[in-house]
Amino acid sequence: MATERTLSIIKPDATRRNLTGRINALFEEAGLRIVAQKRIRLSDLQAGAFYEVHKERPFYASLVSSMTAGPVVVQVLEGEGAILKNRSVMGATDPKKAEPNTVRAQFAESIEANSVHGSDSPENAAAEIAFFFAGTEILP
Ligand code: UDP
Repeated sequence: MATERTLSIIKPDATRRNLTGRINALFEEAGLRIVAQKRIRLSDLQAGAFYEVHKERPFYASLVSSMTAGPVVVQVLEGEGAILKNRSVMGATDPKKAEPNTVRAQFAESIEANSVHGSDSPENAAAEIAFFFAGTEILP
């Protein structure tokens, strides 16, 4: 399997509860390397654009407001099959359906405040990484 990069976001519900280190440990224990990371506050415009694909969904406005409620940690994870690997470390969108020991099973508060985002395809990973990072900020 090829080395890939994926975009991860530790969401405001998790930064508020001081869980960044514990979540990062789960990534590292799974063999993912954090090759870029920054703590930022998303504007409404940024969060709205990032989740543009969900614009018509009933949860869009609430999702945008939850993503701007506090700081997020945006990061690039690198590793063998990093996109799928990260999705399995994260667990299902709805924490009630997430496998035990996944980030969402352990930490998510709800289907919306579910602690982490992770890219779901190589195309989205490339676009989402470019949304937050310049190439020079990524240090493998
Ligand atoms: N979401 C929500 N209600 C839903 C489905 C999704 O609030 O019924 C939120 C949730 O925060 C999720 C995000 O929208 O992480 C993006 O949804 P997606 O289906 O892409 O899930 P993900 O890829 O994050 O697992």
